[in-house]
Amino acid sequence: MEEQKNRQQPSVAQLLRRIEKNQQIQARFHDYEFKLLACRRLPELLDQLIAGAAQHFDLAAVSLALFDQDYSIGSILEHLQLADHPGLQLVDDAEVFTKLFPDGPRVRLGALDESLRKTLFPALYPVGSAALLPLMRQDTLIGSLHFASHSPQRYRDDMAVTFMWHLASMVAICLENCLALEQLQRQGQEDILTQVRNRRSFDEEFAKELARASREQKPLSCLFADIDYFKQINDAYGHQVGDRCLRQVAQQIARELRKTDLLARYGGEEFVVLLPGCPAHLAASTAERIRLAVANRPLRLPHETIPLSISLGLVTWQPDTTRTALEAIGSALLDCADLAMYQAKRDGRNRVCVGEFSAAEVGV
Ligand code: GH3
Ligand code: MG
Ligand code: MG
Repeated sequence: MEEQKNRQQPSVAQLLRRIEKNQQIQARFHDYEFKLLACRRLPELLDQLIAGAAQHFDLAAVSLALFDQDYSIGSILEHLQLADHPGLQLVDDAEVFTKLFPDGPRVRLGALDESLRKTLFPALYPVGSAALLPLMRQDTLIGSLHFASHSPQRYRDDMAVTFMWHLASMVAICLENCLALEQLQRQGQEDILTQVRNRRSFDEEFAKELARASREQKPLSCLFADIDYFKQINDAYGHQVGDRCLRQVAQQIARELRKTDLLARYGGEEFVVLLPGCPAHLAASTAERIRLAVANRPLRLPHETIPLSISLGLVTWQPDTTRTALEAIGSALLDCADLAMYQAKRDGRNRVCVGEFSAAEVGV
């Protein structure tokens, strides 16, 4: 009887082995959590959460779903050019998480049914076993992190989930912090009214684009656009209608641009556009397309329509190796685009005027 009891109890050696193994697992989780805490920006954190976790925990695949009902995370990711980050999905339907965690937001371990496998790991077949970690902040589910292993033994539903639960809390906090920081950064770069870049952000990007153009010896075109007779619109219809005009013009300009182009509100009703790598003839056709897009879309009010147009000044800088005073070139380039825009005004408005820019002639 005594002998039988002894057989059922784990031996001291077995217990020690178990403790040692648990300590190893705990250390592995700790190391990973430190890596997460060290991530300062969202791109870094996403890399660490997806590719980093797969490597650290030796997993077949890792995926992350974030709950994004109002596309606020989507627009941050777009802004950071992370919209297609592998392994990341944005979910706008809370039902998806109800399916993932039907018994409430608890860590789930074990086999995956085929429909969940397709949703969480579309590129991995078969999945041996998986761990699904709900990400909670202040009692709200903000997303879920999913680990997949080839081995059916790796995650079993009778295993303890303490480490996983702790990790899920850390992930949720890190995500919330990084997302808040990106949002703040973005707000600091954005013009509140039109949601295009503000002047400060333009100045920073302009310096980078000048340096890039010079380094790569590629042309940099610059457009200045000013709304025609805008004061009259404000005077006749009020500032709120004026503000709507500004938003619409900004949208119309943005729609004609490529991802690498840069649009900013430069001042009251003035916009500036940078077209990196764009030679003069292509920039001229872009400017003309923008002019037409604005002119073809009047502002529609309930009982009337307000015609809108802009005047544009265009200049192109073709860098050459002898000139390196980039700041002076930048400011001369903007002056030249501004002068060309005023020429377009004098020529009758709603037109594009091309300025001649030569760094040599402006003495830089
Ligand atoms: P032009 O065709 O020569 O450009 O004439 P304009 O009336 O557009 O030019 P002007 O510079 O005289 O008027 C610009 C107006 O833009 C004056 C200012 O009240 C208005 N403005 C500047 N910022 C804002 C803004 O944020 N909202 C609104 N509604 N109006 C603004
Ligand atoms: Mg104006
Ligand atoms: Mg103006």
